[in-house]
Amino acid sequence: MFEKILIANRGEIALRVLRACRELGIRTVAVHSVADTEAKYVKLADESVCIGPAQSALSYLNVPAIISAAEVTDAEAIHPGYGFLSENADFAERVEQSGFVFIGPRSDTIRLMGDKVSAKDAMKAAGVPCVPGSEGALPEEPKEIVKIARTVGYPVIIKAAGGGGGRGMRVVHTEAALLNAVATTRAEAEAAFGNPIVYMEKFLENPRHIEIQVLADEHGNAVYLGERDCSMQRRHQKVIEEAPAPGIDRKAIAKVGERCAEACRTIGYRGAGTFEFLYENDEFYFIEMNTRVQVEHPVTEMITGIDIVQAQIRIATGEKLWFRQRHVEFHGHAIECRINAEDPFKFTPCPGKITNWHTPGGPGIRVDSHVYNGYTIPSHYDSMIGKLIAFGDTREQAIRRMRIALSEMAVEGIKTNVPLHQELMLDARFVEGGTSIHYLEHKLAERNEVKNLA
Ligand code: ADP
Repeated sequence: MFEKILIANRGEIALRVLRACRELGIRTVAVHSVADTEAKYVKLADESVCIGPAQSALSYLNVPAIISAAEVTDAEAIHPGYGFLSENADFAERVEQSGFVFIGPRSDTIRLMGDKVSAKDAMKAAGVPCVPGSEGALPEEPKEIVKIARTVGYPVIIKAAGGGGGRGMRVVHTEAALLNAVATTRAEAEAAFGNPIVYMEKFLENPRHIEIQVLADEHGNAVYLGERDCSMQRRHQKVIEEAPAPGIDRKAIAKVGERCAEACRTIGYRGAGTFEFLYENDEFYFIEMNTRVQVEHPVTEMITGIDIVQAQIRIATGEKLWFRQRHVEFHGHAIECRINAEDPFKFTPCPGKITNWHTPGGPGIRVDSHVYNGYTIPSHYDSMIGKLIAFGDTREQAIRRMRIALSEMAVEGIKTNVPLHQELMLDARFVEGGTSIHYLEHKLAERNEVKNLA
């Protein structure tokens, strides 16, 4: 086992990784920007190193500073968390070249999956079902593009190979709009990601977002830990996640899960990863793979009893997976609400000083958060300040516990999206389960109309 790990991240995930390290008896190094000096994970870490000013580009994305911090503290491995450098293949390579272990897949795997065209090709070859569309990148020739769209069938979506974070996508409903849309997406992709390559997919009109969690070791063993339903989204950002996905046949999950585990074996995947799918008319369509731990990993931990962050660390030491697929048991239901410091219905960020912070507890409740009473949320980063997770024997019980937990949550000094979550936990369609990725946007639009009429 490693003796010391450097955590190259901030916020709740830095604390989550720190706790996993503590349980494994590993010493920790926190790196932080000037704006995060007072953060809880910095105080709890065995050592801490300030790596730069508040701007992420100069601190949490500052590769030389992070490598130097690992060198001066004699850390053996670096955990990248999620976001920031976690899916940056060049960073993973630099970490390994500098003599440290990168807690994640090999850099060439990250590179392969980071390009959505090559990722889709690899998944297709491995037998994972994909959204129908162009074979790889779109050609230059306008006639060819028109032909491909006719074969795929409108509406189609033009997507950037290098895209991410819900950016670099354009839906096209008619042939008249096609070539312009391709040209604009190419130009935007070049400007935003430095890569003008785009591809085409059938645009699914009312899908759900279902993802499969996997764990794989470097010895060719891989398992899937079931699915998560992350359909409750606003602007392609997940708001609520749950496991298992309501109403989906367990045999169908097992089948797609096996495919994902097999794909891991085929591409030599190492570590934790997530295969993201759109799900419509009982079919799964792969859209992308995330080669890191996800924000929503706790719901899977709650229903499997497997600590995914500890698993990442153990796998990074070269350990063989210590269990087989048949040992993975699913029990109960878990729901996660992302708690953001923002106006609950306007969605404007609301950083500032927290003057009262009281979190709920009781059976089945888990709170993953790095903030505390008196903490000042910096304005430089993501607005997520924590995650509230409720577990129950059934989905009904998980929802009931979440409602109680949300009602107990007391935050003063800043605004949070707790009121939005409270509404959603009482929403008849959510309670029924199985809403599509557009549901929340529709609901919010309707809510606005009602408000404007009043
Ligand atoms: P990103 O890496 O930017 O998150 P994804 O490929 O994961 O991009 O897509 C993000 C979101 O865009 C999906 O969750 C879904 O809401 C929408 N989307 C992507 N592809 C399609 C498609 N073929 N049909 C319908 N919606 C899509």
